[in-house]
Amino acid sequence: MMDIESPAKKRIALVAHDNMKDEMLEWVAHHRAELSQHELVGTGTTGRLVQEHTGLVVERLRSGPLGGDQQMGARIAEGKIDILMFFWDPLEPQPHDPDIKALLRIAAVWNIPVACNRASADFIISSPLISQVYQRRVPEYL
Ligand code: PGA
Repeated sequence: MMDIESPAKKRIALVAHDNMKDEMLEWVAHHRAELSQHELVGTGTTGRLVQEHTGLVVERLRSGPLGGDQQMGARIAEGKIDILMFFWDPLEPQPHDPDIKALLRIAAVWNIPVACNRASADFIISSPLISQVYQRRVPEYL
């Protein structure tokens, strides 16, 4: 195993499926002050909506179904994402289901915290580790 450092200023990924976007917007608004201390990157539509509704700067990738999830996965593999807030829809099939699986898998491989719903996101954003340097353990063969 080896360690990879997550900086104190986290690079936080925001992804929400269509039925979960309102919840994501509410969540971001609720934690706006904390989130403004970090760097935000989102899939296309999620990123645009968060920016419009909160005024926070969000780097935007492609929309999820057009490859945004894969871009986000690549960022994780490159060590450029520290936390994934991924409000996926448990009640509706998605056209890009393989990409969603791949994103969740690569986040697990690289041992980054993943919130799949609002309660998990509340716990992660409230952790003292959110503003501290953190050493993530990852498999050495990587
Ligand atoms: P979107 O993508 O933010 O562009 O809607 C999210 C997703 O479906 O993964």
